Amino acid sequence: MAEREKVPLPVEGQYPVPEEYLAARAKALASLLIEKGFLSEDLIERVVQTYERDIGPFLGARVVARAWVDPEFKRRLLEDATAACAELGIKGMQGEDMVCVENTPQVHNVVVCTLCSCYPWPVLGLPPEWYKYPQYRSRMVIEPRKVLKEDFGLEVPESVEVRVWDSSSEVRYFVLPERPEGTEGMSEEELAKLVTREAMIGVAKVQAPRR
Ligand code: FE
Repeated sequence: MAEREKVPLPVEGQYPVPEEYLAARAKALASLLIEKGFLSEDLIERVVQTYERDIGPFLGARVVARAWVDPEFKRRLLEDATAACAELGIKGMQGEDMVCVENTPQVHNVVVCTLCSCYPWPVLGLPPEWYKYPQYRSRMVIEPRKVLKEDFGLEVPESVEVRVWDSSSEVRYFVLPERPEGTEGMSEEELAKLVTREAMIGVAKVQAPRR
């Protein structure tokens, strides 16, 4: 069980295709597209850099922290996430129609894309590997409580309703996690540091800082 205390990587190693194969396939595809003139090395490098450096879950964490400290912003976020994120300058590709769903003591939300790997890039960056695995995509809609417990070590009490949201190329969901107890005196910046990618997908809760 001690394993569970690490960052959750649920289906690690279970996916039947070895990484070298995937890397070779991506490389072959890229060189073909470059040869045909659809892509350039430069462009690939720029996109990779952008999603490594400038865009990632730290942007979603800012949105969550703002919603925790500003009820009016939270109201706008739940009404129209794309517009509310744009207020903070967070917008772009694959985020044209984002929906933010709120976790409460009664409801736990979790996000999946059953078809492929649709994901709100502007707030979360690129999806983690496991988000694309068939096991995650198929099982999360059938037995979410079991997946949350077995793969992520997150036990949701029976009294709490679990809602699973299936993202698509049109609508992409992310979760507004519950603000943990014991964070009353914290600033928005400090709060943002507590918010993880997993919490915004709904496979983890935000933990209060250790004292
Ligand atoms: Fe998809």
